[in-house]
Amino acid sequence: MQQAGRQTETLVDQFGRTINYIRLSVTDRCDFRCVYCMEEEMSFVPREQLLSLEEMAFIGKAFAELGVSKIRITGGEPLVRQNVIKLFQDLGSLPGLRELVLTTNGSQLARLAAPLRQAGVARINISLDSLQSDKFQQITRVGELDKVLAGIQAAKEAGFRIKLNTVILKNRNHEEITDLVRFAIDRNFDISFIEEMPLGIIGDHDRAEAYYSSDQIRTDLEKIWSLIPTTESTGGPSKYFRIPETRTKVGFISPHSHNFCHDCNRVRLTCEGRLLLCLGQEHSIDLRQVIRSHPGDIDILKQAIRDSMQIKPKGHDFNLQEKPIIFRHMNVTGG
Ligand code: SAM
Ligand code: SF4
Repeated sequence: MQQAGRQTETLVDQFGRTINYIRLSVTDRCDFRCVYCMEEEMSFVPREQLLSLEEMAFIGKAFAELGVSKIRITGGEPLVRQNVIKLFQDLGSLPGLRELVLTTNGSQLARLAAPLRQAGVARINISLDSLQSDKFQQITRVGELDKVLAGIQAAKEAGFRIKLNTVILKNRNHEEITDLVRFAIDRNFDISFIEEMPLGIIGDHDRAEAYYSSDQIRTDLEKIWSLIPTTESTGGPSKYFRIPETRTKVGFISPHSHNFCHDCNRVRLTCEGRLLLCLGQEHSIDLRQVIRSHPGDIDILKQAIRDSMQIKPKGHDFNLQEKPIIFRHMNVTGG
């Protein structure tokens, strides 16, 4: 990762929030079908509508020149996109970018951990909802726990700083909360618990019934460990706690119980090139159209991005009792 470079300008939205973080969804496809994220049968974006990896790298460059210092590659499962390492290499060499990070389900890490590290990725978030093969398979529908554990081990050996991401569903995996934290402590990983968000219609379960709040998780953990609040902020939804005498931090991402919009610092790009200004709203602009109408013209692209700051909404509200108002599934949004 290159340092400093030409620091240019800062993106500021209509509410004065600085936007310095973008999440790029490189594909909506996935080798898993997690029950909270997707339907069992999904139709995916036709390949010809996807941005090419070169187009994504070009958009990443424009954001870096506009002062964005952190890029997260996500999806769908980003590591199932062919030749995705090339994108990491291109983004990893951008001047001004401080952090290039990845969110993955871990299934391809045994193969790709080393090249990712070489491309300049230092931190990885790996999703892990269960340590029991049968439960893991029920939640992911098709995932194999052994493959993911091998991927986690490969990532550890490659020298990544690792955070686990865990979605807790009542009566599915809530009894594993302490086991998962112990797993993290034993390996010096961090772990974040995420409240399920109502993105897309899913047939598997009733989201209100499966809701298990961050406060409940905290209460479960405090029976065993003390959790010391940290002042750390990622400018996002996570609240972090340290577990004394360990190197592990526990985070809580609580879109229901703690709204996090007032200090939002991020935007998202879908795999079709739609720039989403808010996770829980539909305000967006079509960057694919911009770059295909003006190939190679980074100034026009940067101006479109600057203009989009005027439509970033103030925030969103999720209501578990009502049907989702956002029909995009998380794999499209880029979690
Ligand atoms: N496939 C990769 C993975 O699973 O890590 C990256 C994409 S996935 C959409 C990113 C994160 O979103 C995962 O940690 C997943 O658990 C989380 N996620 C998916 N659907 C969600 C939902 N409806 N509510 C909350 N988190 C969700
Ligand atoms: Fe795939 Fe990640 Fe969604 Fe699970 S959460 S279905 S691994 S994109």
